[in-house]
Amino acid sequence: MADSRGTPGGRRAWLDVPYAEKDQAKAVGARWDPAAKRWHDPRPDREGNPRPELVGWAARADVPDLLPGEDRTFGSGLFVDMVPESCWFTNVRTCVSPQDWERLRRMITRRAGQRCEVCGAVEDRPAQRWLEAHERWAYDEHTGVQALRRLICLCSPCHLSTHMGYANVTGRADQALAHLRQVTGMTEAEARRHVHSAGDRWTARSRRTWALDLTMLTNAGVTLARPDTPDRRRVAAQRELDKARHANQHMPEQRTEQPHRPPEVRPTASAPAPAVSTEPTPTETATPGPGPDRSWLRRFLDRP
Ligand SMILES: [Zn+2]
Repeated sequence: MADSRGTPGGRRAWLDVPYAEKDQAKAVGARWDPAAKRWHDPRPDREGNPRPELVGWAARADVPDLLPGEDRTFGSGLFVDMVPESCWFTNVRTCVSPQDWERLRRMITRRAGQRCEVCGAVEDRPAQRWLEAHERWAYDEHTGVQALRRLICLCSPCHLSTHMGYANVTGRADQALAHLRQVTGMTEAEARRHVHSAGDRWTARSRRTWALDLTMLTNAGVTLARPDTPDRRRVAAQRELDKARHANQHMPEQRTEQPHRPPEVRPTASAPAPAVSTEPTPTETATPGPGPDRSWLRRFLDRP
């Protein structure tokens, strides 16, 4: 997709460069446009296509501003909403290519006016505050279907508060709780009660297997890839968690645990699995066991 906007005397070709590939793209000539918040090739060919070394990142058509079947009023405000343990690493990001994820993230931040849809914050590089795409799901207890209903633009502090279990295992529970209280006006006791009932809901949902319904994306032309096997997802989860822990200076010493959600701080570099189907792929059957490990919740709630 070529465009002449913003480049005096020249055309440019927009690129969809996943965050993890930005250095690689920059090394072969991609440039960042801070106003458009997009990468581009400043020297496209005559037809306006990116040069061969950048053509792999050529921007695809924009995703529509409202995804088919999306409900942008679904799940308003800030609340703790953890991904069931049986769905680890079976989220949107693991099902779409990094480039498609970037395309979705771009649409979501653009339609939100480059602000957090909950607290209104903008990106702040020195404060390490970013705008991220968060998935809101509807869980149908009768059919066992976990359906994607909305993608929402959240700042990283709001995103962290939403995933309180992950905040806890990466040593940031205090920070996440403080942000939750600041945004919602909850008292300390109210916030703890809120986390407790979210934990109960998470425990109940983690006891069963959910089939993913991602028709909101497939109907918008996004191709899904089959999620990795549970074992490989576990290894990837551990690697991401270790990375997040190292990145956090205030990480307490504690037993290694799986995160209860994939870390979504920044996109990962892992290549997507080959696309096998445009149909939603169900989650694998969860291994029957003693039930989800709630120890993180107890530790979190029992703290003085
Ligand atoms: Zn926010």
